[in-house]
Amino acid sequence: MSRTGTTLEAARSRRPIPKTMRAGVFREKGIVRVEEVPVPEVRDGEALIKVAACGVCGTDIKKIFHRYVEPPQILGHELAGTVVAVGRGVSKWKQGDRVMSFHHVPCGKCFYCERRLFSQCKQYKTTGLTAGFTPNGGGFAEYVKAMPWVAERGIVAVPENVSFEEATFIEPINTILKAVEKARVTAGETVLVIGCGPIGLQLLMVAKLAGPRLYTSDPMAERRAKSLRLGAIESFDPSGGKLVEEIQARTEGRGADAVLVAVAHPAVVVEALAAARPGGRVLLFAANDPVTRIEFPAAAVGIDEKEILGSYSAAVDIQEAAADLVLRKKLPVMDIVTHRFPLDRIQDALELAARPTEESLKVLITHG
Ligand SMILES: [Zn+2]
Ligand SMILES: [Zn+2]
Repeated sequence: MSRTGTTLEAARSRRPIPKTMRAGVFREKGIVRVEEVPVPEVRDGEALIKVAACGVCGTDIKKIFHRYVEPPQILGHELAGTVVAVGRGVSKWKQGDRVMSFHHVPCGKCFYCERRLFSQCKQYKTTGLTAGFTPNGGGFAEYVKAMPWVAERGIVAVPENVSFEEATFIEPINTILKAVEKARVTAGETVLVIGCGPIGLQLLMVAKLAGPRLYTSDPMAERRAKSLRLGAIESFDPSGGKLVEEIQARTEGRGADAVLVAVAHPAVVVEALAAARPGGRVLLFAANDPVTRIEFPAAAVGIDEKEILGSYSAAVDIQEAAADLVLRKKLPVMDIVTHRFPLDRIQDALELAARPTEESLKVLITHG
């Protein structure tokens, strides 16, 4: 597309776009208010997306309910929608394109990017998707703007046969795939997934593709049952204190080859280490709490040679592979969506995600 073409397109498309929009604004600890805010203005190299759906991520909950970020902010980074305007110089996208957008895109050139440690890249840490205020995703608003580096490399096309709701999983599935790869899950291994909330169940789905023997644990019976339907061989209630014993009984006394931890509690890490075999791997998924301290026996690492691994956020070099898993419907992601809320009820959505019930799993905000 020519330079003039994109300029005209941007100019034309601005007309039907309103000046203001509704957005769920994080205003104080635990509180998100629906307010009328300006629609972000599209500048050169940028793209404006009308959000159709946005998943509520555990990170949003931590930021809002533990106040990990300073308000005011518009959160929400698992989003999909339609491009409604593009700035001058944008040739990859046009009005009407169905897309999802990542909120972090690494530079690809720095010390960390060269070593595939994309989440540690300085540009990566600079959020490039915003609905106003300090950029932080913006999917809890009606429109979001992708900044130039995101418009260039962080947007993925969504074909007609994939719903926007399905497409909201492309970002989280990327983070999940990265974690499963870091845990080096391979066929025939015994893998334990601790926690069967939305993250644990996505870890289960993605790990299953590698062909291990999968076990899960969760105190909630409904969640254990769900994990069995999604491919776990057995699921244990850890409340009885027998989880380690149960796993050892199924591995000739050794323990699991890999343990994927999707629960943010220090005691669970100790249990995960105990459930892993000597030389096994324990992967802490997005254990991004800067305050919590974890205590565990030094011998677990120093003598038993168990590895503790961390995985945070997405990786750009698996962007296509992760998107493919969702776009080609290789994962039953919609099986874990239990609740949809309109933007007006975002506070209810967040409260539910923060304090899940037996029945609730993934919560989506749908913009209608
Ligand atoms: Zn997230
Ligand atoms: Zn970089």
